[in-house]
Amino acid sequence: MKRDPVAFLKEDMTELRNNNLEWIIRYLEEGSKPHSIVDGKEVLMLNTNNYLGLATHPKIIQATIDATKKYGAGAGAVPVIAGSFNLTKEFQERFAKFKEVEASLLCQTGFAVNSGLIPMLVGKPDIVVSDELNHGSIIDGVRLSGAKRIIYKHTDVGDLENQLKEAEKESARRICIITDGVFSMDGDMAPLDGIAQVAEEFGAMIFVDDCHGEGVLGEGRGIVAHFNLQGKVHVEGGSMSKGFGVFGGTVAGSKDLIEFCANKSRTYLLSTAHPPGVVAANIASIDVVETEPQHVKRVWENTNYFKKEVQSMGYDTGNSSTPIIPLIIGDPGKAQELARVLFEDEGIYGTPIVFPMVARELSRIRVQMNALLTKDDLNMALNAIEKVGKKLDII
Ligand SMILES: *Cc1c(COP(=O)(O)O)cnc(C)c1O
Repeated sequence: MKRDPVAFLKEDMTELRNNNLEWIIRYLEEGSKPHSIVDGKEVLMLNTNNYLGLATHPKIIQATIDATKKYGAGAGAVPVIAGSFNLTKEFQERFAKFKEVEASLLCQTGFAVNSGLIPMLVGKPDIVVSDELNHGSIIDGVRLSGAKRIIYKHTDVGDLENQLKEAEKESARRICIITDGVFSMDGDMAPLDGIAQVAEEFGAMIFVDDCHGEGVLGEGRGIVAHFNLQGKVHVEGGSMSKGFGVFGGTVAGSKDLIEFCANKSRTYLLSTAHPPGVVAANIASIDVVETEPQHVKRVWENTNYFKKEVQSMGYDTGNSSTPIIPLIIGDPGKAQELARVLFEDEGIYGTPIVFPMVARELSRIRVQMNALLTKDDLNMALNAIEKVGKKLDII
């Protein structure tokens, strides 16, 4: 009998479904904001990376409209082939100033920064020392590089130091320490001050991926500003798609780094640049963060209130120290059940996070705070989370 060359598609999906590991995509009929309509239902969203609520900020929307009218809908090409917009230059200068570094580059996405730049910074003769819970896009970038990978225990500077001692014995050409700034599934922070100290001792390069720290930590400037480490972190990767509410990846650092990235990163060289409307919105988003500090203040007020309340109900929030608040349940089926009942019965949209995003036995609902959530919204969500958590024997 002839074999079916695509039989594995259905087989693999059946296996995912049977193990409660299938991702269900829901569809929004309004903007990504706390009160939205999802799958035809009015819900309270507790699961977006749009921490400051800027995705629907009127000034940022207007900037997109104005730039689209002036420049059109698309970029036409990759920047090195047919040029970049003066808007992009403006963004890069503004962003560098905001981050207190020499230069910055607007790349396609945070994922593209990691998969395009890491394999150029390190290669076969080099060693990457990587936090065990780093984001998948870092892991892919390191795999593509061919560099030897040494893992250190999550946020453990002592173990990092031990691994660097091991790495040193191998006389690698370069050693690069890579870490998330804020860990996306746990909401804890990299101990960047300790990392910077040991990096200096061992002559190691530091690459921090601050996708979830930008817009949130250090008055919006990110984890490097939070720890006052400006000038001590060699490569800062980030995203305009989360706290800044718009879209795009960023690299910030020295002028040398940015020239290197623009000439070598394969994703920068081979993938089309952002539409002008997106670039203009990114500029407007920096403006808003600089001139309207209330959004950062609000997201932290909401975070502190919500975290204290869920902890006192008995939920395990791990080591969260940011607006990412995991409610760690354990069993993937139970995490999905909690999310389903919250959505269907209570109108609360929180996402179950299961393997491969986290270990199977650490399945959870990840709650993310937002500056636009009011005290009433939070209390409504807290009541529902307590009620359903008790019903399902989670707390
Ligand atoms: C979200 C995220 C990315 C990907 O960023 P995008 O701009 O969405 O591609 C990369 N790294 C980390 C740590 C992230 O949290």
